Amino acid sequence: MYKFYFVAGSQDLYGDDCLNNVAKHSKEMVDTLNASGMLPFEVVWKPTLLTKAGIYSFFDEANSDKECMGTILWMHTFSPAKNWISGLKIARKPILHLHTQFREALPFSTIDMDYMNENQSAHGDREFGHIMSRMGIQREIVVGYWRHEDVIKKIASWMQSAVGIVESNNIKVMRIADNMRSVAVTEGDKVEAEIVFGWQVDAYPVNEAVEYVNAVSESETNALVDEYYDKYGLILDGRDACEFKKHVAVQAQIEIGLENMLKEKGYNAIVTHFGDLGGFKQLPGLAIQRLMEKGYGFGAEGDWKTAAMVRLMKVMAGGKDTSFFEDYTYNLVKGKEAVLESHMLEVCPSCGDGKAFIRVLPLSMGDREDPARLVFTCKEGKGIATSLIDLGNRFRLIVNEVESIPCPEEMPNLPVASSYWRPEPNLLVGAEAWILAGGAHHSSFSYALTSHQMKIWADAMGIEMVTIDKNTEIESFKDRLKWNGAYYDRR
Ligand code: MN
Repeated sequence: MYKFYFVAGSQDLYGDDCLNNVAKHSKEMVDTLNASGMLPFEVVWKPTLLTKAGIYSFFDEANSDKECMGTILWMHTFSPAKNWISGLKIARKPILHLHTQFREALPFSTIDMDYMNENQSAHGDREFGHIMSRMGIQREIVVGYWRHEDVIKKIASWMQSAVGIVESNNIKVMRIADNMRSVAVTEGDKVEAEIVFGWQVDAYPVNEAVEYVNAVSESETNALVDEYYDKYGLILDGRDACEFKKHVAVQAQIEIGLENMLKEKGYNAIVTHFGDLGGFKQLPGLAIQRLMEKGYGFGAEGDWKTAAMVRLMKVMAGGKDTSFFEDYTYNLVKGKEAVLESHMLEVCPSCGDGKAFIRVLPLSMGDREDPARLVFTCKEGKGIATSLIDLGNRFRLIVNEVESIPCPEEMPNLPVASSYWRPEPNLLVGAEAWILAGGAHHSSFSYALTSHQMKIWADAMGIEMVTIDKNTEIESFKDRLKWNGAYYDRR
């Protein structure tokens, strides 16, 4: 289980009484934060740090603790920052600098020099911040009173990014198809991705996956079909019920077979391609939707970068409300501009509004039998769409804040799951900025994450990220891309 170390920094200048209070205060803070119910993960109290050797050991321990996803640091009193240099040099886990104070109100009527010396994070945290800035250390700074809800929420939000930063290194993408021929934006440098993000991206022959699928027994398959029939509605579209069920069973067998292969080989994301199906009877549709719902990353047409991003964002979001999408088609009616998001089959049910139906329908692409898929409408609400692109010499992450809105009319003939989006600041500016930045038609989307959380991750990876939000304006966005180029192209 993930956890975060919480530690106060101090020194021995003010005597034991003061240090006893520092320890008491930081313990109370940890207990209160854990009891708040607002943090996704546990905070673990660590003894106050005073010396260079102690600080070094603290970071050494955090580095080697596999469950530790980050450290929360706070200078209760004054902690001379040279003592932190050797520790910060080896610090590998994400850092949150909590700039707060134990007591909320300044005790105007009673304040004396003892109080001043005991509660001096106002200057202790500046000394500490200075050394991290001088050393160029990435960290998130949260300022405010530690019991305030907005402060705790900021810590909670950072925790999700920290998990993404650490877990990025454990993403493994299984490609059972290469990139779609001639397509540019889904290509990329896999060696560089492993250096920058820690992603392992490996290819397997498609028929090796088919062997795993064929090895799944009929009884296992039928049990999963029963589960589907329990959980989802059925829309037969005039098909014979027995023939319909056989098509569904093909996807159940694919789901079990692919998951067996992923588990056995230790992968947590997968890539397919409708044009490279080997012995598959159907394009994996329902099967992929179910795997995404279980937390696996996915990218279509060989898009391993999006598959890894879907996995990353699912890990950050605790598995919830996150999917692969494709910008499909527009509504360009003035004042009502929006984009219909979908894919030929593969949208994750975690984004659905609760009612999902299985349908078996022809697929105009590929040359296999009609695939079963889950059809549903996505929830309303705000979220972020992300696209990671390879510019040849470096990566860029593009994030558009979007809102999933109700579709103005029913779409009875739409054979796939879909979401209807209004990108910020509106479709016209949002799409122009996205295209200027070079964003793909595929995206990894989440209702559960914010652009700020992605920025913390992108900064930790050392890559450029551009956000398209309610304040985006094209001319300054163009300038931002140029300035970012000057900074990120320097090496
Ligand atoms: Mn596609």
